[in-house]
Amino acid sequence: MKKMLIALAVALAGACTQTPPEMQVVNDAAEALGGRDRVQAVKTLTIEGEGTNPNVGQNLTPDAELRVWKVTEFKRTTDPANGRMRLEQVRTAQFPFAAATVQRQNFGIDGDVGFNVAPDAMAARVAEMVARDRRLEMLHHPITAVRAALDPGAKVGNLHQLGIEQVVDVTTAKGDVVTLAIDGITKLPTRVVSMSYHNNLGDVAIETTFSNYEEVSGLKLPKRLTTKIDKYVQADIEVSKNTIDGDAGDLAAPDAVKSAAVPPAIAPATVDAQQVGRGIWWLAGSGNHRSIVFEFDDHLVLFEVPQNDVRSSAVIAKARTLSPKPLTHAIVSHHHFDHSGGLRVAVAEGLTIITHKGNEEFFKWLVERPHTIVSDALAKNPKPLEIETVDDTLTLKDRSMELQLYHVKDNIHAGTLLIGYVPRDRMLIQADLYDAGWIQHPWGDNYRQNVADRKLRVDKAVPVHGPIQTFAENLKTIQSKPPAATN
Ligand SMILES: [Zn+2]
Ligand SMILES: [Zn+2]
Repeated sequence: MKKMLIALAVALAGACTQTPPEMQVVNDAAEALGGRDRVQAVKTLTIEGEGTNPNVGQNLTPDAELRVWKVTEFKRTTDPANGRMRLEQVRTAQFPFAAATVQRQNFGIDGDVGFNVAPDAMAARVAEMVARDRRLEMLHHPITAVRAALDPGAKVGNLHQLGIEQVVDVTTAKGDVVTLAIDGITKLPTRVVSMSYHNNLGDVAIETTFSNYEEVSGLKLPKRLTTKIDKYVQADIEVSKNTIDGDAGDLAAPDAVKSAAVPPAIAPATVDAQQVGRGIWWLAGSGNHRSIVFEFDDHLVLFEVPQNDVRSSAVIAKARTLSPKPLTHAIVSHHHFDHSGGLRVAVAEGLTIITHKGNEEFFKWLVERPHTIVSDALAKNPKPLEIETVDDTLTLKDRSMELQLYHVKDNIHAGTLLIGYVPRDRMLIQADLYDAGWIQHPWGDNYRQNVADRKLRVDKAVPVHGPIQTFAENLKTIQSKPPAATN
């Protein structure tokens, strides 16, 4: 009898310790990386290298290749036990750019506290969504992802096979969800995927693929990490040095940041209306993205719905206070994300979009994308895209107003750019051709040339960016600040 009980106890113990298949995937990955104990003993992990950051949402045309920032001095240190990470890098524009072409970046996360450190060492807290994305970014590495999956507080499930990969979903002890894929043969992690929200793209998968593994300090570590947001590569880093438990420096958030209020995801917008002509208002206020309202016989037309729902819904609301006539149309100057960020709220508000024909398919795609992680104005009030496209020119004209729209030719910043011209006032409306505050004017000549080719006689230049000036002042500034040499 005693013998039988022991046998039963052994059998039961065996049943209890049998590893579920989804956990076997995690164990296999840990083993391939250098063993569970070695993976769990890692205190800090530092990746140094260089690569590229493609400039998502800023290509020449919606389907054109992304222009890139070259990344140097890349250094990302992670302290997984304390939930801390710091990323420092220098990025240099590999494309003509009107603002600083070399930028030093320093991003941190400490638990739930996300912060950016400016080149002058001032640290500022970032929004909750940004902090969440950085917490998840910490898991976009084989060591941190597998460690998180080994945590007794984590849940691992949804095991499935995808080609050669074995894939599981990991819900961390903190409740974050990442998908971990491993190579079915080597058992090394191939990818980590997590979901995020992007203002223009809505729900997006952020996917980091790992390749070119090397052995360092008894661990297998990837030498290449490529991160995509949806279909766009966002970062492609070649690792020159992997360091385990090196001198990580101080990864903690500064006290002033920890005690600072968490800023909102999008700062509130103020909109001021300034009349700049008969039936024409310039909507400025907070920020440096302005819109222009035109009053026709029986309706209003808005030029530019920029940035995001917050800015553009405030702009639309302000436009509606200027006249009892209905606001019916929104002109979108070009497809760049900061200029088309209000597209969805404009559609939700029932406005017909006027834009260059090269943007039509892209805008349809943006309007149809799901926004469930954050429910934006269009997700709450779905409407189809009503669109009128411009090829070379389009004139909107009645007894009250004449607004001519012209496609800007041969511009290196944007291939789908429209400018507006009001002949009565000799007024030019432009976005991204000129801002008095720019440090250089790489396409200043193109601006002058397009105005000349269209035979526009411009007195007043009313911009989306920067102050209103005379066209003569625009040209004088362009001449005094020539284009900088690009890298
Ligand atoms: Zn642009
Ligand atoms: Zn712009």
